[in-house]
Amino acid sequence: RLYNEVIELKGNIRVFCRCRPLSQDEIAKGSTSVVDFDSSQENELQINGSDTSRKQFKFDHIFKPEDNQEAVFAQTVPIVTSVLDGYNVCIFAYGQTGTGKTFTMEGTPGNRGVNYRTLEELFRISSTRSSIMRYELSVSMLEVYNEKIRDLLVDNSDQPAKRLEIKQSADGTQEVPGLVEARVFGTNEVWEVLMRGGRARSVGSTNANELSSRSHCLLRVTVVGENLMNGQRTRSHLWLVDLAGSERIGKTEVEGERLKESQFINKSLSALGDVISALASKTAHVPYRHLSHSLSLAPLALCGYHNVCLVLLLSFFPPPNQELKAHSYVAELSSTFFLLNINLNAGGDCKTLMFVQISPTVADLGETLCSLNFASRVR
Ligand code: ADP
Ligand code: MG
Repeated sequence: RLYNEVIELKGNIRVFCRCRPLSQDEIAKGSTSVVDFDSSQENELQINGSDTSRKQFKFDHIFKPEDNQEAVFAQTVPIVTSVLDGYNVCIFAYGQTGTGKTFTMEGTPGNRGVNYRTLEELFRISSTRSSIMRYELSVSMLEVYNEKIRDLLVDNSDQPAKRLEIKQSADGTQEVPGLVEARVFGTNEVWEVLMRGGRARSVGSTNANELSSRSHCLLRVTVVGENLMNGQRTRSHLWLVDLAGSERIGKTEVEGERLKESQFINKSLSALGDVISALASKTAHVPYRHLSHSLSLAPLALCGYHNVCLVLLLSFFPPPNQELKAHSYVAELSSTFFLLNINLNAGGDCKTLMFVQISPTVADLGETLCSLNFASRVR
């Protein structure tokens, strides 16, 4: 029965696929695209590997390399704005590093992405409703990397970083006490806050690209709505998430920071293993706590846990048998947990959208197929 419930909730999950264009470099090297878009089937694509086999994938929507930020946002807008109607919403970008996760979510100053456009639209809609509703918007921004949550809106330059933790509140949802919630009143201010968070993200890392590929970046928009007719108040969250790269760690790269990272990942996996075996043996005490302290899984921890998800996940993903695969395994687990939990916790009043980002080149074919296969299972 529970399994069926989860399957039903999965109906609330939409998956959009976005393929980035070939870069100048790739074009210069003579690379060609292995992704074919079917002109008659808007939501299907084919991957043409070096062998003769063609693999076909179907999603709720597919964005081609030439589709711009406006086109992407046009499909996303009904989902994000439902936060104003009291829905909890979660949008996240999943995929290999370099496929456009940050481009889709954050964008560039001249080519703004989903995050900024969403807030702009929330302000626009709330002003049209000002005679019946009053809305308060605030934003929080955090980064999760190697077991640490960092508040990107705190000025850490003159004080040691405050350690943030995830706590379970009485109603079962997860909170991060002390996380800055910056009230925002207009779009200029939003851009300033997003830029400030972005700068904080790259400060203190010797290689910003490296860090961004291994960390999750989460933007949370909190909407408090008050109905001016009956005084009824609602509070809902919109999560906009740029996940860590989903690619596997090569064996030779497992050293230094990467080694530390893979140790954290292994710790997370063993915490997950403990939970799973407790569930399997129907032990009264299930060590969820350990899991929520394993911050490599933090995106999911923030959204709470549910037995059903774990059980379901087991059926999705057999345990990894090589250390090499651990990272992508965790990336898959965390994103699946993430979207399942957010749905379950919200009692169905929740909408989830996943962007699976892919690269068109033959050099990335293996990762592209992994991402597409995973995304197909989610849907
Ligand atoms: P990720 O966050 O997944 O590692 P990025 O968003 O940093 O990837 O994208 C890698 C590069 O490709 C960036 O230079 C970005 O501007 C460019 N890019 C990604 N997607 C697109 C797109 N749809 N159109 C144009 N350029 C893109
Ligand atoms: Mg990125």
